[in-house]
Amino acid sequence: RITGSAYRRVLLKISGEALMGDQGYGLHPPTVERIAREVRTVAQMGVEVCMVIGGGNIFRGLQGSAQGMERTTADYMGMLATVMNALAMQAALEKLGQFCRVQSAIPMDQVCEPYIRRRAVRHLEKGRVVIFAAGTGNPYFTTDTAATLRASEMGCGAIFMGKNGTDGVYDRDPALHDDAVRYDRVSYDEVLRKNLRVMDASAIALARDNKLPIVVFSLDAPGGFRSILAGEGTATVVGG
Ligand code: UDP
Repeated sequence: RITGSAYRRVLLKISGEALMGDQGYGLHPPTVERIAREVRTVAQMGVEVCMVIGGGNIFRGLQGSAQGMERTTADYMGMLATVMNALAMQAALEKLGQFCRVQSAIPMDQVCEPYIRRRAVRHLEKGRVVIFAAGTGNPYFTTDTAATLRASEMGCGAIFMGKNGTDGVYDRDPALHDDAVRYDRVSYDEVLRKNLRVMDASAIALARDNKLPIVVFSLDAPGGFRSILAGEGTATVVGG
């Protein structure tokens, strides 16, 4: 395989909302397919791709607990939502001819593989995309933390945070401030100190401790993921 990228192995993190298109909820098949194409293009470059997908388009733990549900139960429901999204992405990728495996942090053998690090590595070596589902398997965590954890375990060169409606990290909210400036590079500590919206604080701290760069880029334009991996286009790199 030929790689047109400085990265051999990466992890793409997208939120659950990235799969719902213009709908307010759930899965929008053409949007799922569009992102699957982005991933396939990169896998075809010879880059090994892992994915973590959120669950916010279906269920969020905090939302459930705000309605009076026990937090841990609500969080498990959120983790199950990420499994549904992972299965939808797997189906879309395989429809495009891109082999893929889903591994869940909560074993559910009839549905997908359990998370086994060495098996995941083998899938990647064979050119399969691996989607890590059910977050970390623990309540009180987020899929951002799961993405940082799995990317560290798998030895990924960086986490790529594919965003909708923004192409990086800004010093203030660009929707509210015309003079907001996008960072090309920003340190983990500055992100934490200024509470910049990249990932939650525990995920940022884990990335910092493992010296794992976080590349925040836009998934809105076709070919965006490929461009970023080829070193083109705009993004913010969060690093040391
Ligand atoms: N979740 C969890 N532990 C994890 C990952 C996720 O409990 O390790 C739950 C949590 O309730 C969260 C939900 O799953 O609200 C969906 O994940 P997230 O909010 O990170 O999704 P995103 O915002 O990226 O769509």
